[in-house]
Amino acid sequence: MAITPLMPVYPRSPVRPVRGEGVYLYGEQGEQYLDFASGIAVNLLGHGHPHLTKAIQEQAATLIHVSNLYGSPQGEAFAQRLVDLTFADTVFFTNSGAEAVECAIKTARRYHHAKGQPEKHTLITFSNAFHGRTMATISATNQEKLRDGFAPLLPGFKVVEFDNLEAAKAAMDEHTAGFLVEPIQGEGGIRPASQAFIKGLRELCDENDLMLVFDEVQCGVARTGKLYAYEHYGVEPDILASAKGIGGGFPMGACLATEKAAAGMVIGTHGSTYGGNPLAMAAGQAVFDIVADDAFLDNVTRMGERLRGALEQMIPNDDHLFEGVRGLGLMLGIKMKTDSRAFVTYLREHGLLTVAAGDNVLRVLPPLVIEEAHVTEFVEKLSEAARQYEMPQAAA
Ligand SMILES: *Cc1c(COP(=O)(O)O)cnc(C)c1O
Repeated sequence: MAITPLMPVYPRSPVRPVRGEGVYLYGEQGEQYLDFASGIAVNLLGHGHPHLTKAIQEQAATLIHVSNLYGSPQGEAFAQRLVDLTFADTVFFTNSGAEAVECAIKTARRYHHAKGQPEKHTLITFSNAFHGRTMATISATNQEKLRDGFAPLLPGFKVVEFDNLEAAKAAMDEHTAGFLVEPIQGEGGIRPASQAFIKGLRELCDENDLMLVFDEVQCGVARTGKLYAYEHYGVEPDILASAKGIGGGFPMGACLATEKAAAGMVIGTHGSTYGGNPLAMAAGQAVFDIVADDAFLDNVTRMGERLRGALEQMIPNDDHLFEGVRGLGLMLGIKMKTDSRAFVTYLREHGLLTVAAGDNVLRVLPPLVIEEAHVTEFVEKLSEAARQYEMPQAAA
């Protein structure tokens, strides 16, 4: 048998972390890595954060799981917190980002169904989007590498160019249920949508009674210096998918909606065995205890500016490799002139963890608790690696 016990769907790197501490990961032989990937925007509080660890330990010893058939004081409390802090009136808890997006898609369809217009079932989505790996969420993107071999895909999605309001408008017809968009594309290459685009989508939704659905699985939960990225745009969605950082590493997600948008989500329409169980709620609460705080958010903004400034200073020295920096807060991308995947691999070998993204972008997604010393260490190691990387490039 040649197949590995772990289904071989990931090109796993030789980095094999067994322990984490703050902003660092440690491999089997004790090798140290500066973790500016955060499990892809998940470990907001770094590794082994005492508040999160304690909350999970205490909840695990008290009550890990009960069915959603019972009352949930834990779920009610965390949902209330999200409602108080955001545009939303109601929350459905999931175990992952794709499930949060699934719930968002179902909520949007049910909205029109409940209004007696079940023909309004199609969400307009955008090029290079990433919404997850379930059948519905791969149907919602045009990325061939996610879809190849999985036909037939689900109907009910129409993909147009990202950040192109005219294209979005032109795609509308009598079947349109709304728009599903990442305000800042993550996997697609750290691409913030323009203000005019997001505002324009909101207006189209208001004029035509459509659902504006934001996928903030990557950009949400304090990553950009706001609790959710929509706050930067001054535009509220009807439905929002959240996950990744929301549990600080505990697998969970949430679908947030206004009362109006959730009109069709009545008893029996949706469910999840694990979703919102007491252990997940304890993790989510512990993360929010720390990140839902103006001083914390301001620090994310400040660290983001430091990091961005340092990267922008570095880039002219290595302009054979780097083109520029984009993103918001601590969701940054360095656009490269060369294959970003190969460079990310090279950085790993030098003790630096980052993530590749589409469009030859190197994603920089550190834990939100980084300090200036980590920014300095990162930029020093990155520019040192860039100088050494010059040689194979020049020889080529
Ligand atoms: C990661 C991601 C998802 C999928 O989340 P999973 O937890 O892997 O299912 C969906 N949308 C966006 C924007 C993401 O970055």
